[in-house]
Amino acid sequence: MKLVARYTQIADDFAVADQPSAVIAPNLLLWNDTLARQLNIEVATSERAVIFSGNLNNSDVAAVALGYSGHQFGHFSPRLGDGRAHLLGAVTDQQQQLWDIQLKGSGATPFSRGGDGRCAIGPAVREYIMSEAMHGLGIPTTRCLAVVASGETVYRQPPQQGAIVTRVASSHIRVGSFQYLAAQGDVTGLKTLADLAIERHYPEIKSTGSARYLAFLSAVIEKQVSLIVSWMRVGFIHGVMNTDNTLVSGETIDYGPCAMMNQFDFDTVFSSIDRQGRYAFGNQPNIANWNCARLAESLIPLISDDEERAVELLSPLINGFAEQFHQAFTQMWAQKLGLDGHQDGDAELVSELLTLLKNHQLDYTNTFDALTESLQGQTAIPSDLAGWSIKWLARTSTQSYQLMRQANPRLIPRNHIVESIIQQYESNGESSMLDEYLTALRSPNQLLVSPAFWYSPPVDGDTNYQTFC
Ligand code: AMP
Ligand code: MG
Ligand code: MG
Repeated sequence: MKLVARYTQIADDFAVADQPSAVIAPNLLLWNDTLARQLNIEVATSERAVIFSGNLNNSDVAAVALGYSGHQFGHFSPRLGDGRAHLLGAVTDQQQQLWDIQLKGSGATPFSRGGDGRCAIGPAVREYIMSEAMHGLGIPTTRCLAVVASGETVYRQPPQQGAIVTRVASSHIRVGSFQYLAAQGDVTGLKTLADLAIERHYPEIKSTGSARYLAFLSAVIEKQVSLIVSWMRVGFIHGVMNTDNTLVSGETIDYGPCAMMNQFDFDTVFSSIDRQGRYAFGNQPNIANWNCARLAESLIPLISDDEERAVELLSPLINGFAEQFHQAFTQMWAQKLGLDGHQDGDAELVSELLTLLKNHQLDYTNTFDALTESLQGQTAIPSDLAGWSIKWLARTSTQSYQLMRQANPRLIPRNHIVESIIQQYESNGESSMLDEYLTALRSPNQLLVSPAFWYSPPVDGDTNYQTFC
């Protein structure tokens, strides 16, 4: 594995040299062979546990911990940073693209603030499954190359076995990365970071001067709009959309307290700490908009020396978020219902359906799947939707089935199934189900070939299900 250094040119305290701490008994639990091949990563089976636990020879890799700030639940922390992660560097894939290789749970860093720098096996396995599922659903995401058990105990309530996740991302540049440099008044660092982000993610931006960074903000907004729309298409609730968990690449990152919605309800929240519903299913667009506004603020010094002028130029982009979202969201519902083009009354058709789904506590995934397959005569239209469906069927065409089959997954990573696999890993260090489950999740729109219970909502509707950061 050939690694190149990343982010070291930005500022001394942006990428801080720091090595992973070795663990007692590294044991490879999960290895993503497909991803390894895509990234040209060739590591002998016998060496994987050692390398991807961080039990490296210190001279092999110049690891760094990245500094970043973050608005957590709306409150600003100027100095968060990688408190339990080390960036080993980047690899180059067959298309000459760079991919960051980061170990998470690899020990304390200068950013740990009293934390132990470790990760428990459960969250590690969750990140692996959820990110593979999101990738299968066609949603931009960081991915996992490996999960290695550490052979050590991490002291959580109750104590757990430790693990190290290897995360692969097109970059680790967060909204919080810009906030970090802006908070320090480091304009040179901000410019270097913005140029690096443009080069990596938005090479089509050729303009110079302030126009360059306005175009960057526009591009990030477009990616965030598209990301949140795709989350909502499949019922994904991120759970902790802090600015430090928002990548300017538009990839999903940080699978701590995420969950999938069963019964449709915009107010759905599973995170134990999200008491106000800030990160509820239906509030995700507002939060993405808010996070983009925090990015815009950080970019002010790159736009103009005159702050008022800079705000004048940035504001229209932020103010345009809602309308951009509305358009993409409308188009998503049209696809989920197989509507060709736009006609008057479509908005009512969607809102009536969503009201019915909520009032009858219908499962989001399975209802849209049933509507899809009803067009092929494979399933009946759910009886609660019989009246509504007359209007809907009048709006369908020969294209509808294809549109709907692409937009509506049959298989999502149901919380209770993911939890049961995690429990198997916690008690046995393996799961008989995972390989087959991942294979099915990678083709989530295909016909049912797997055990029927994978497709069923939980018996209790996940009413007591809670997630933790
Ligand atoms: P997260 O909730 O994963 O987005 O993390 C928020 C911040 O807390 C980041 O700066 C993490 O590095 C830090 N953090 C989370 N868990 C730990 C831990 N066990 N040890 C040290 N830092 C941590
Ligand atoms: Mg995070
Ligand atoms: Mg986390």
